[in-house]
Amino acid sequence: MKCALVTGGSRGIGRAICVKLADQGYYVLVNYKSNTEEAEKTLSLVKQAGGYGELLPFDVADKSQIQEILGKWIEGNEEKQIDILINNAGIRDDSLMAWMVDEQWDNVLKTNLDSFFHVTRLVLNSMLAQKYGRIINIVSLSGLKGLAGQTNYSAAKAGVIGATKALAQEVGRQGITVNAIAPGFIKTDMTEGLDEKELKTLIPVKRFGTPEEVAHAAAFLAAPEAAYITGQVLSVNGGLYS
Ligand code: NAP
Repeated sequence: MKCALVTGGSRGIGRAICVKLADQGYYVLVNYKSNTEEAEKTLSLVKQAGGYGELLPFDVADKSQIQEILGKWIEGNEEKQIDILINNAGIRDDSLMAWMVDEQWDNVLKTNLDSFFHVTRLVLNSMLAQKYGRIINIVSLSGLKGLAGQTNYSAAKAGVIGATKALAQEVGRQGITVNAIAPGFIKTDMTEGLDEKELKTLIPVKRFGTPEEVAHAAAFLAAPEAAYITGQVLSVNGGLYS
C-alpha cells in the first residue's frame, strides 16, 4: 500500500495536502502535535475524498518522540511503504532580533528545521531500499527573502531550502526527488492575526492564497511524473516575490 506522511496535517496547508493526496489514492498518515479534534476532522475529510488513513501524533520538535512513534510505526507496518513525505509542520514566533529570547529561537529552529532532519532520516531508509520517494518540504517566502521580525523563522526555512538542495543531490540516482514549496501569505490559523486588507495590496494577485492552492503544487511535485524535477523551490505566493 502506498502511503503519504504529512506532518502538521491537522490544520491549514497540511490538512489540504492530506485531502489532495487521499483523493489521489494514497493512504495518509496525518501527523499533528496536540489538536486531536482538528486532526479527526482531517481524517474524516480524507475518508470523504474516498481515501484511507490514520492519525499519527508526535511532536516533530522532539527527536525521541519521532524515533519512538514514527520509528515504531515504520517497523510495524512493513506492508505500508511511505512513498511521499511532506515536511509541513511549522510554527512562527516573531520578534525583532533585539528582543528575541532564547526560547523563541530554539523552538522555531527545532520545529521548522531540526524536524526536517529527524523525520526525513527515518523515512529515507525505506525510500532508498525501494528506490523511490518524493520528499516535499514546506518552507516560506521568509526563507528566500528574509522578513524583518522573523530572524528565527527565516533562518529555519532558509536552512531547509539548503538541505533540500543538498539531499536532492545525494539521492537523485535512487529515484527520490526532494523539493520545497515556498508559500507567501496563505489563509490559515498561522496568518489569522495579520492585516490582510493592508497586506493584500502588496500582492500582485491582490489576495491571500488558499491551502488548496499549496496542496495542488504539492500534488504536482509528489506525482510519479515529476521524476525529473528535484532540488527546486516552487513559490506559491501570488507573484509577491520572484
Ligand atoms: P497552521 O494552520 O498553524 O497549522 C500548523 C500545523 O502544524 C498544525 O497541524 C499543527 O498541529 C502542526 N504542528 C505545529 N507544531 C508541531 C509540532 N511540534 N509537531 C507536530 N505538528 C506540529 O499552519 P499553516 O499555515 O498550515 O502552515 C503550514 C506550513 O506552511 C508551516 O511550515 C508554515 O511555516 C508554512 N507556511 C505557511 C504560510 C502561511 O501563510 N500560512 C506561509 C509560508 C509558509 P496541531 O494542530 O496539533 O497544533
